[in-house]
Amino acid sequence: MLINLHTHQKKEFGLEIMHAKEVLTSPFSYGIAPFEVNQFLFNETICTHKNCLAIGEIGLDKTIQTDINKQIKDFKSQLIYAEKLNLPVIIHCIKAYNELIEIKRSLKPKQPWIIHGFRKTNLTTILINEGFYLSIGTAILHDKKLQSTLKSIPKDRLFLETDNDLNHNIEEVYQQVASLKEISLLDLKNIISNNFKTVFKKWEIG
Ligand SMILES: [Zn+2]
Repeated sequence: MLINLHTHQKKEFGLEIMHAKEVLTSPFSYGIAPFEVNQFLFNETICTHKNCLAIGEIGLDKTIQTDINKQIKDFKSQLIYAEKLNLPVIIHCIKAYNELIEIKRSLKPKQPWIIHGFRKTNLTTILINEGFYLSIGTAILHDKKLQSTLKSIPKDRLFLETDNDLNHNIEEVYQQVASLKEISLLDLKNIISNNFKTVFKKWEIG
C-alpha cells in the first residue's frame, strides 16, 4: 500500500492523510497553518475524532505577512495541544528553521514531529540529529540537491507525500525514491508502512 503523509486533494490512492478543516470519513490531519490564521480558528473537538491522526500542517513561514512572533505563539499553542492528545505533528517550515529547532529544544515533545515538503538539504543532518522525521514530496522528481541528500536520511525517519501538487501522484514519488535509494518498491513500501505504524499509533492499517 502507498502511504501519502500529506495531501490537500483526496485521490483514494492508498492511505493518505488529508489536510482538513473538518471531520472526514478517512484519515486526516487538523491544524491551522501560518497561511490560514486569518481564515480559521482552531477547533479542539475536531482533533479528538478517531480519524484525526495528527496536528498539522502547522508551523512557521517567514515569506508571508503575518508577524513571526504571532506565528510562534499560534504554533506553540497547537504543539502543546498535540502533546496533550498524544498526536504527532506535521510541520510546515519556510525560512524559520532556527526558530523551529529552538522551539523543539525548549518544549522537548514526546510526540514525533515530521517536517513536510522537506527541501532544506543543507540542514538534513542537523534536523535528523534533532529528532525530526522528514517527508519528501514531488520535488524529489526534479530537485538534484534533494535527490543527493536522500542517502543521508535514515530509512526510519522518512515519509513521502504529494502535498498540493496536481501534476504528479504518490506512485511517482515512491518509484523515484526507491530508485535513488537503490531498493525495491516493495522494500520502500514496507519501510514507509513501518514508519507510519511507529508514528501514527492511533491508526490500524487493515
Ligand atoms: Zn500542504
